[in-house]
Amino acid sequence: MTASLLELRSVTKRFGDFVAVDNVSLAIAAGEFLTLLGASGSGKTTTLRMIAGFDLPTAGEIWMEGQSIHLLPPYKRNVNTVFQNYALFPHMSVWDNVAYGLKMRRVARAEIDERVGQVLEMVHLEQLARRAPRQLSGGQQQRVALARALVNRPKVLLLDEPLGALDLKLRKEMQLELKHLQTQVGITFVYVTHDQEEALTMSNRIALMRAGRIEQVGTPQEIYDRPATKYVADFIGETNLLSARVRIIAGDRATLDVEGQAIDAQAPAGGPVPPAGGQVWLSVRPEVMTILRDGESPPGHNVLVGTVEEGIYAGSLTRLRLRLAGGTALVLHMAPTGSAVAPGQQVRIGWPAARGVCLAE
Ligand code: ATP
Repeated sequence: MTASLLELRSVTKRFGDFVAVDNVSLAIAAGEFLTLLGASGSGKTTTLRMIAGFDLPTAGEIWMEGQSIHLLPPYKRNVNTVFQNYALFPHMSVWDNVAYGLKMRRVARAEIDERVGQVLEMVHLEQLARRAPRQLSGGQQQRVALARALVNRPKVLLLDEPLGALDLKLRKEMQLELKHLQTQVGITFVYVTHDQEEALTMSNRIALMRAGRIEQVGTPQEIYDRPATKYVADFIGETNLLSARVRIIAGDRATLDVEGQAIDAQAPAGGPVPPAGGQVWLSVRPEVMTILRDGESPPGHNVLVGTVEEGIYAGSLTRLRLRLAGGTALVLHMAPTGSAVAPGQQVRIGWPAARGVCLAE
């Protein structure tokens, strides 16, 4: 990765006795789309506010382009923030809302016209420049808020749940648009959301926060395919977490015991290696499991036998609920083309060993 543009170094924020952000270190590269993802109260907004300058860290430092910035007032940092409640000026036109910051900074009229025109075009609002915010849809208002931040040409744009107020369909459209725009303008985005699907769709990297700490940082694929902890596996997407015991862990391979059967998986990423006999979890995504035909035994696959409890049709897939002989419940996603199975039927369930991840307690 290129040298980092923005760096949080052991940043902590306390409110009285309460630790909202706990010793967070994170380096963000120029042009990166980094998402702070986490449950409500995990410290995402507080982290963003410290980068913006609305809150000061209790301890630690924030650096940008080789300069410490954590003590600078917000307007002296080369960052802009877009909030969920767009906070547009209701009595001003779209154009004037976007031009406001530049006017305040006494930028020359001709330059204001040029820059406002440019960003309105970028967010596809040039036709609506004379309208008032109340004459716009939620998505259009969000674009104005975005244009108002982009017009300042910040090095870093901070976005706090910017799509939170939009309905699901518009939200999905805006996710793609925003991602496209970010690639186009090349500005570094630090994006806050509690929506894991949104984070997976948009980010170059995700920092998953839990109780003020960063639980894991990685690309969407790393976080999804190689969760570092049970919490991450559970938070991102849907997964089967099976109680297991270690038979042997060597290098990046683990052999586990699930209901008395030997199951191969990836060893835990980092952390102390659990000892033989130790209690661990096996995470397997529902979509990597398949129902095997009689006698079918693909190389490198684990196989378990279970009983079908229920199949729930969900359009593009069928969610199959199964139970192993020892009582462990499983969910498997079956493609519509999969062979029909009926409740009560015994089936063989297979998945590639490398697609299961052993997670320490
Ligand atoms: P959400 O998704 O709900 O916005 P979040 O992950 O952004 O959550 P923060 O807003 O950063 O979480 O809050 C982290 C914790 O710090 C919460 O428990 C919150 O109650 C607490 N907190 C935030 N601001 C303050 C404050 N000014 N005074 C006291 N506690 C605060």
